[in-house]
Amino acid sequence: MNRPTKCRVLCHDYEIRWEDEAWVSSTELRGQCNYVTKIIHIRALGSPCEIAVTFLHEIMHGLELTLNKLNIKMDYEDRVNFHSPLLVAFWRDNPAVFKWWVGLVNGEGE
Ligand SMILES: [Zn+2]
Repeated sequence: MNRPTKCRVLCHDYEIRWEDEAWVSSTELRGQCNYVTKIIHIRALGSPCEIAVTFLHEIMHGLELTLNKLNIKMDYEDRVNFHSPLLVAFWRDNPAVFKWWVGLVNGEGE
């Protein structure tokens, strides 16, 4: 299954860019979720587990950035309770991305 190139994070459509080592070296990042440009950058190289974790990490940033833009402050338990349905909404809104990610986690290749 091909790597996804777009996804929806709540009400925002994001482009997903698979970045080479030059980008990794210049930014010193494995991934980045840019709320302004609506681009999620992911290091293209790495084990399937590394890519799956980085991808989910950046999705969590997208959810978190939306939360911060809404200026909602929460304690730990409330934050976890808030994120759970957001993750469900993300997977519901991006079934092809979810299918790719599950395959990655299960070692079915890309
Ligand atoms: Zn981060």
